[in-house]
Amino acid sequence: MELFKTMGNIDDNNHQDKLDENVEKVKCLIIGSGPAGYTAAIYAARANLSPVLIQGLQPGGQLTTTTDVDNFPGYPEGISGPEMMEDLRKQAERFGTDIRWGMVTSVDFSNNKRKVIVDNKNQIEAESVIISTGADARYLGIESEEKFKGSGVSACATCDGFFYKGKNVAVVGGGDTACEESVYLAGMCKKVYLIVRKNYLRASKAMQEKVANTPNIETLFEHNTKEVTGDKVVTGLTLIKRKGEKDEQEVKINIDGFFLAIGHVPNSKFFKPYIDTDEVGYIKTIPGTTKTNVEGVFAAGDVQDPHYRQAITSAGSGCMAAIDAERYLSSKS
Ligand code: NDP
Repeated sequence: MELFKTMGNIDDNNHQDKLDENVEKVKCLIIGSGPAGYTAAIYAARANLSPVLIQGLQPGGQLTTTTDVDNFPGYPEGISGPEMMEDLRKQAERFGTDIRWGMVTSVDFSNNKRKVIVDNKNQIEAESVIISTGADARYLGIESEEKFKGSGVSACATCDGFFYKGKNVAVVGGGDTACEESVYLAGMCKKVYLIVRKNYLRASKAMQEKVANTPNIETLFEHNTKEVTGDKVVTGLTLIKRKGEKDEQEVKINIDGFFLAIGHVPNSKFFKPYIDTDEVGYIKTIPGTTKTNVEGVFAAGDVQDPHYRQAITSAGSGCMAAIDAERYLSSKS
């Protein structure tokens, strides 16, 4: 019995040695390729941290689904989102960032470990980690919306608007994104219904004015979406006007495309067992820094920012994360 156990241990040790051989060691691992990730990479590479950046499912992040970015300093004429992300990627590469395709599928940050598994197989052990995984579009959560995803329901007007040229569409939401997407769609569609659950828009005044000045946008205040209707593709919406009020009323509109613009969910799922988040899932950082509750793990960009969520603030926090990582690593050497 004892012999068997000892042999078992030898096997275990060999197995562990094999696993360790396959673990790649890096100084600085950056997860995510939006403005935060690329900016962190530029700074980390220039600080000789030899960063490895894992791009994730949507290389370039949310900005690759945007048309013009007019508010990023340094571009007096504006720049398209995809072009800007391509420039950031090239800049990060110029200083030697190792940019890789792949998805982080799990992490182990227990007992001061910073182990990351990519595509369920490649193991990386990092001396420092910068989480810049961004946030994803939120959906209403109704069954019919799920049914028509990809055949009339979309969360990205700039990606899919083209398919609805000359047709009627609806956008749900009352923030800047909903207004921006409505104006964008109004430029190519026959009519845009903007469906707002409250009796006012949350969007900035400038955006509200743009909506008001676009004749083919009809804003339906105090309307909630009950159902997306159609057979194989979307043909309409059933809405509830003044839900819960005495004069509550069911309203039907004919549309071909339904666009969600009701906010985002931070991509922090894999980190939650180890990293503190708020109730929505935004990673908590120590105010004034990008430090998380795990030593050597930093967070930057939309995944930790419920307030600003701009490309420029995201890039700024990416820079902070690289500096925090560099200082952390210097303090350890
Ligand atoms: P926001 O969180 O600002 O707005 C979300 C909107 O969706 C709100 O009007 C909210 O309604 C509505 N909503 C949420 N859940 C539901 C639901 N279940 N049914 C119906 N409506 C719902 O998100 P945005 O994406 O618009 O903006 C995020 C951030 O990005 C903001 O800070 C914004 O200013 C910024 N931004 C800036 C732009 C620019 O400057 N060019 C462009 C786009 C975004 P309610 O108001 O009732 O809560």
